Amino acid sequence: MKVVIVGGVAGGATAAARIRRLDEQAEIVVFERSGYISYANCGLPYYIGGVIEDPEELTLQTPESFFSRFRIQMKVRHEVTAIHPDRKTVAVKNLETGEAFEERYDKLLLSPGAKPVRPNLPGINSGKVFTLRTVEDTLRIRNYVDQHQPRSAVLVGGGFIGVEVAENLRHTGINVTLVELGSQLMSPFDSDMASFIHAEMRKHGVKLALGRMVKGFEEKDGGVEVHLENAAPLHTDLVVLAIGVSPESSLAKDAGLALGLKGSILVNDRMETSVPDIYAVGDAVQVKHYVTGEDALIALAGPANKQGRIAADNICGGDSRYQGSQGSSVIKVFDMTAAITGMNETNARKSGLDADAVILSPMSHAGYYPGGKVMTMKVVFEKGTYRLLGAQIVGYEGVDKRIDVLATAIHAGMKATRLKDLDLAYAPPYSSAKDPVNMAGFMIDN
Ligand code: FAD
Repeated sequence: MKVVIVGGVAGGATAAARIRRLDEQAEIVVFERSGYISYANCGLPYYIGGVIEDPEELTLQTPESFFSRFRIQMKVRHEVTAIHPDRKTVAVKNLETGEAFEERYDKLLLSPGAKPVRPNLPGINSGKVFTLRTVEDTLRIRNYVDQHQPRSAVLVGGGFIGVEVAENLRHTGINVTLVELGSQLMSPFDSDMASFIHAEMRKHGVKLALGRMVKGFEEKDGGVEVHLENAAPLHTDLVVLAIGVSPESSLAKDAGLALGLKGSILVNDRMETSVPDIYAVGDAVQVKHYVTGEDALIALAGPANKQGRIAADNICGGDSRYQGSQGSSVIKVFDMTAAITGMNETNARKSGLDADAVILSPMSHAGYYPGGKVMTMKVVFEKGTYRLLGAQIVGYEGVDKRIDVLATAIHAGMKATRLKDLDLAYAPPYSSAKDPVNMAGFMIDN
């Protein structure tokens, strides 16, 4: 069996390694357009801020190490330009030499990810306006910062990447303004929870321009003017655009594969596309939301890795099924941690659910043991049935473990009232005998 994979990072590299574990004989060829494989996308902002100092930390594997460990050919700087399902080949361009060739496959896996949205605004192609997706993008921003020593930066977009890059640029001493079209940062969170994130950003000197639309960019006086609708332009030395991502699905579209939301690749729960022997995973595919059962786009590393394993199992003759994504995620916001799983209250109501929520502000650990910090936890559930719909937590300590408990409870289909029954670990430095998750259950069951 010959397996060809498009994209050699989260979904693609995971699938490649698993196929090798399941099938010693398979010929596996991975084409990756960038110069790196299996890189740590999630670590990229921290290299810009100097928290991760060595760029080699971001590139955990090389084509050589992958080949010697797994006997998988990782062809970097090779772009797949077309799929020909009728003759089971892909067209490939070697970006170093310009050579074009066709590669035959028995099974094809697409894991091309999602690309940063770049609207056709005036001045968007300025060399001072950056986006962040690959290692190359990261090095470009970091080199610009090192060479030009910018004093100010404007971040456009207040989602996960925008907030992380804002923090990291601030970390290097740059004055950062974050411009966001919506009235809050981090749209997966309810506005009451997002307000804590706003406060933390402002406390660390990030200026927030909320409810502002960027109309274009203009190089001026050695910097860039960021033009806003109904507000004075912002003059800055550097712009990073992080206004979302869209599925990289042009290959699939051109080959006639069925598409879903926002042009994403349609797959079933075995990660099979509409064309036989072609599988797709990761940010490029449409998934089912685990809580609502509705179609969704959820661009996160955990789902991409899981889907890669599932596709590999099925390519090798197994029958693994993807159960859906619930959007569990966590982010560092300066000293704070913010985390979410499932649906927020606003979206639950919008989708017609009779949602209710409890909010509590417990200490992260026993009050009498030094260093405890207050966290704010919001648990969203359905009235009447007490089905758990989602949870959000912001705080300074112990946020990540609580959100994972709640994510597990949601996945297991537990009722919100049963949270009080969970037997959770406790010692004074870590928690309280009245554990916050248990307390949320008691409040719901009162
Ligand atoms: P990717 O990992 O993006 O890999 C796709 C690869 O395919 C790319 O390298 C691309 O060059 C290649 N490719 C595309 N088209 C072609 C083609 N035609 N030919 C050849 N190669 C092609 N998720 C989290 O859960 N937590 C985080 O903290 C987090 N932080 C992030 C921070 C940043 C800056 C970014 C950019 C993403 C972050 N993510 C995070 C998201 C996470 O990285 C993605 O969800 C995950 O990498 C998706 O995996 P994928 O395999 O679908 O795509």
